Amino acid sequence: MDFSIPQQTQDFLGAVREFVEKELYPFERRDHARGFKALLPELARIREDVKKRGWWLPQISKEHGGLGLSLVEHGLLSAELGRTPLGHYCFNCQAPDAGNMEILIQFGTPEQQKTFLDPLLRGDIRSCFAMTEPEHAGSNPVWMSTTAVKDGDDYVINGHKWYTSSAEGASFTVVMAVTDPNQDPHFRASMILVPLDNPGYTLVRNIGVMGDAGEDWASHGEVRFENCRVPQSNLLGGEGMGFAIAQERLGPGRIHHCMRWIGICERSFEIMCAHAAKREVAPGVPLGTRQMVQQWIADSRAEINAARLMVLHAAWCIEQHGAKEAREEISLIKFTVANTMQRVVDRAVQCLGGYGVTDDAVFSHFYRHERPARIYDGPDEVHKQSVAKRILKRHGITIKSGANQ
Ligand SMILES: Cc1cc2nc3c(=O)[nH]c(=O)nc-3n(C[C@H](O)[C@H](O)[C@H](O)COP(=O)(O)OP(=O)(O)OC[C@H]3O[C@@H](n4cnc5c(N)ncnc54)[C@H](O)[C@@H]3O)c2cc1C
Repeated sequence: MDFSIPQQTQDFLGAVREFVEKELYPFERRDHARGFKALLPELARIREDVKKRGWWLPQISKEHGGLGLSLVEHGLLSAELGRTPLGHYCFNCQAPDAGNMEILIQFGTPEQQKTFLDPLLRGDIRSCFAMTEPEHAGSNPVWMSTTAVKDGDDYVINGHKWYTSSAEGASFTVVMAVTDPNQDPHFRASMILVPLDNPGYTLVRNIGVMGDAGEDWASHGEVRFENCRVPQSNLLGGEGMGFAIAQERLGPGRIHHCMRWIGICERSFEIMCAHAAKREVAPGVPLGTRQMVQQWIADSRAEINAARLMVLHAAWCIEQHGAKEAREEISLIKFTVANTMQRVVDRAVQCLGGYGVTDDAVFSHFYRHERPARIYDGPDEVHKQSVAKRILKRHGITIKSGANQ
């Protein structure tokens, strides 16, 4: 792999870093103090500024109005945007919308693209993705109770979902529902587009996550579908294609997440080092003179460098060979980077002492909202299991497939 980054890309990343530091860092304390909704008018102004600078939709092809960055380039950008919780949102490349844009581009009909994709690309609306159910282990994604039954020209959807991130204020959801229970598990479910002003849909609540239920885009909804009727033309791709499409959505999505987590690591690392150099534990004795603090710094630097190269390599593998061929690399980065981030953020919190756990420090946000990185998009254990199975297969042992068998 060629690790050199063209000068033009470096200049672009430098300009984005400057923008993030100047325009977005000031939001961090206000975000916590006032809540996300109160920031929306100011964020709308910043999003317009991003559009004017030609940075809007970095992950989307030029044909669809984006910047057309490669996966590796977008990964590098994601590390810049990830330095602050609002970075991706301001560039319209935030989860879950980015994944929904990708699948609508790949699988949407012209009509679906006009209704759902185009306003999403413009940033006029937001969306969400409803797959996980509280009654079933999300780590076994083929196990679900939500159904979509044909009735005349419609599907009638019934089900209960949670962790439908960003449901509050979203205009539509992509819901995963069983359309044929008699098929093999991986062909039972389909993805269906549901406008959220549908009378059969209810946002029950925003789920409190470690003391913070959040608002709007920055929230996780519990939702219900009760005789929720949508036209059959809202089916995305074909019937039974739900899991195949989900796989398409997850490969590049994990690169985006992992590089965002690298951004979180870099920001935490920088603050930790600056504090270690400045904070004195006795007159004229900076914290950084203590060997245990030096160890946090050295370990963190080594772990971040290693994680970053692993993710860029995985992105390169996806670009060269496709997400399916790069499954092992994708699983490896998912649990490695999530754990690296957890360790680095924790060391930074420790280094900053009491200040590190206040809501004045950005870490409290990272601590609360990024700990789930080891759970969503496949818990650590599931990824480790799948990597080990593949490796053991090469050594002649075949272990039955399926998340929890
Ligand atoms: C912040 C956040 C955002 C999310 N956003 C979305 C969203 O937008 N849309 C959506 O549909 N879902 C979303 N999810 C749900 C997420 O995908 C699930 O939480 C995840 O799939 C795990 O499912 P579960 O919570 O039911 O845990 P379970 O499946 O019940 O697993 C619990 C724990 O058991 C362990 N475990 C599971 N399987 C194995 C195994 N095979 N071997 C060993 N240990 C195992 C793991 O440690 C796991 O954490 C989100 C979750 C979080 C926390």
